[in-house]
This record gives sequence, structure tokens and C-alpha cells, in this order.
Amino acid sequence: MKIAELKLNDCIDGEGISVSVWMQGCPLRCKGCHNERLWDFEGGYDEPELKGKIIKAISANGIKRNFSILGGEPLCEQNKDMVLEILKSVRIAYPDIKIYLWTGYTYEFLKSLKDNTINDILNQLDYLIDGPYVESERDLTLKLRGSRNQRLIDMKTTLESSKVVLVLENK
Ligand code: SF4
Repeated sequence: MKIAELKLNDCIDGEGISVSVWMQGCPLRCKGCHNERLWDFEGGYDEPELKGKIIKAISANGIKRNFSILGGEPLCEQNKDMVLEILKSVRIAYPDIKIYLWTGYTYEFLKSLKDNTINDILNQLDYLIDGPYVESERDLTLKLRGSRNQRLIDMKTTLESSKVVLVLENK
């Protein structure tokens, strides 16, 4: 399994402490992206026992962590199967932790694909941070986002109500 990075204790990308994995490869190529080294699908490295390492790390030293998936682009054709595989394992092991996923695609675009893998991934999430990075909308004060067009979506409520519901701080 090829990834760009695995952080076992991440205090930035999520609430509290998270285990975070960065997927390698992104076809979107947003101007001003701060993760350009993650664009190349030939980059990254193989992480043996990735799922096992993530599952062990989430409860290491008796501290329960959340789980975050970033990129690169986790939901592109090349990465989505691996992302779903990881998510399913994490959810089975930890049904109650919070799971965050960052994507450069919008939620509406993802739903319009009518893609079973993408829909299965969305069903596993608590929070989706969606949309490309837009340099002219850059705002360093935003929670978990780099530009104002991006949204912090409450996925459980969104899927229940069939309309996009934002987390309060994002309204
Ligand atoms: S989607 Fe994310 S990783 Fe991809 S180019 Fe845009 S900001 Fe960079």
C-alpha cells in the first residue's frame, strides 16, 4: 500500500489527537497547493501492515485517538479502493471514534458520480472537508481548512437529511 505519510500522533488535523494518513497522488493540482510533493502517483512509499499499524496506534498507551485521511487526493480513482479498505477496518475496530477526510472534490460532485466505493467511504465518515484549495480564498483562521470555499461538513446529519449540513463553526 503506497502512502505519502503516516502520523501516529497528530494534534493539527482533527479534534484532539488523531492518527493521520496522507495518500499519495492528486490529479487536481490546485494553484498554491502546499502539498505539491504529494501530486505524483509514482511517489510515496509502501507501508507494510498499514491497517494494522493504524489500528494499533489509535489506542496506543491507553489514549483513544481519532482518525484522519488527507492527501494528495483520497477519493480519486487510484486511491479510493485503498481508502475504503482502511476505513472499514478502522470502523470495525473503533465504531465510536471520529473520522475526518479531506478531499479536493465537492460533496455534490462526489454524490453525482453514483459510485458505490465513494458512497461507502462517505458513509464511514463523521466529517468531510471538501472542495479544492483556492488561493484567492486563502484564510489561515479557518478551522481545518485552507480557503473559504472549503466546507467542514457534518456527514452523519448530511446523510440523514439529504442536504449538506455544515459544522457550526463553518456557518
Ligand atoms: S486537492 Fe489538495 S492535494 Fe490536491 S492539489 Fe488541491 S490542495 Fe493540493
